[in-house]
Amino acid sequence: MNTPSVRMIASWNGLRAVAVAAEGLASGAPLLDALVKGVETVEDDPDELSVGYGGLPNEDGIVELDAAVMHGPTHRAGAVAGVRGVRHVSRLALEVLRRTDHTLLVGEGALKFARALGFPEESLLTDRSRKAWLDWKAELSTRDGWLSEAERRGLAPGAFGTARWAGSTDPARSSAVPGPGDSSTPPSAPFTYGTVHLSALDGAGEVSCLTSTSGLSYKIAGRVGDSPVVGAGLYADNAVGSAGATGRGEAVLQVCGAHAAVTRMGAGDSPTEACLWVLRHIADRTREKRLLDGNGRPAFNVTLYALRKDGAMGSASMHEGYEHVVLDERGARREPCAFLFERPRGV
Ligand code: ASP
Repeated sequence: MNTPSVRMIASWNGLRAVAVAAEGLASGAPLLDALVKGVETVEDDPDELSVGYGGLPNEDGIVELDAAVMHGPTHRAGAVAGVRGVRHVSRLALEVLRRTDHTLLVGEGALKFARALGFPEESLLTDRSRKAWLDWKAELSTRDGWLSEAERRGLAPGAFGTARWAGSTDPARSSAVPGPGDSSTPPSAPFTYGTVHLSALDGAGEVSCLTSTSGLSYKIAGRVGDSPVVGAGLYADNAVGSAGATGRGEAVLQVCGAHAAVTRMGAGDSPTEACLWVLRHIADRTREKRLLDGNGRPAFNVTLYALRKDGAMGSASMHEGYEHVVLDERGARREPCAFLFERPRGV
């Protein structure tokens, strides 16, 4: 029998993480330890505004991090959510998996667990992320997590896509929607969805995955998206493969996105087909006007990443223009994601 070679698929910001993880594997580290080591490079990066140290804070100016790991061979997972003051939340999630009988620890309890294990505590705000939060506050913009009366009554078409969440200046590097109007009306405060996800297959043919994020910027305190939720932001089944998601967590949570992608692969879809199936499912079930653009399409992005047990990999985004990372025998590189909807032309 052929020995399967190492394969990894990751979000656009996982280029260095997959290289470090592959080095870890090559030097004999267990797969999840190697993935954590890789993702720590992203959690340490002050310029990555959507993960770890320097991640954009919640509406109170406090950084709250979420992370999860899932181990294919044992079908066990560990996760933490709403963690303040600890940057290496992917390692903390791995400790939940290894040291407890539980899957998910949140907030104060997760912090107490981190303290017990001696994780260092620190402020996770950088000058840059503090300034971004102050700018956001100064604007008192509608780009927050609270719905207006008109939005609650379904009378605010397009508000989500135009003013509320749009604003990525570099769509390929963010999960924000690349919609018309983004470049003409850039918000002064950076505003982002964003997350790092890694799904991996090791040389023994075993799969595992990891997701780490600071979540939606300026979220309501306590808001948790899909990233630390097993079956939504990540899922691994050693018999089939692994998948993960980035982008609007609320949409992914509501369709159990990563679980759906793995299930589709188990039923015969290629990884890319499985990702597109989940995106179509999200698009078909997005009904509130505030979440739709002028063409009735989701005015937000979601990207799915999938890796099959045989080493096949694929990724797809709701909208055109996003990238993901792959690692195979040719090394690590960025590639364009497949997509459900073309970017509107000529606008
Ligand atoms: N999915 C993450 C969340 O909703 C954010 C992202 O990936 O863009 O918290």
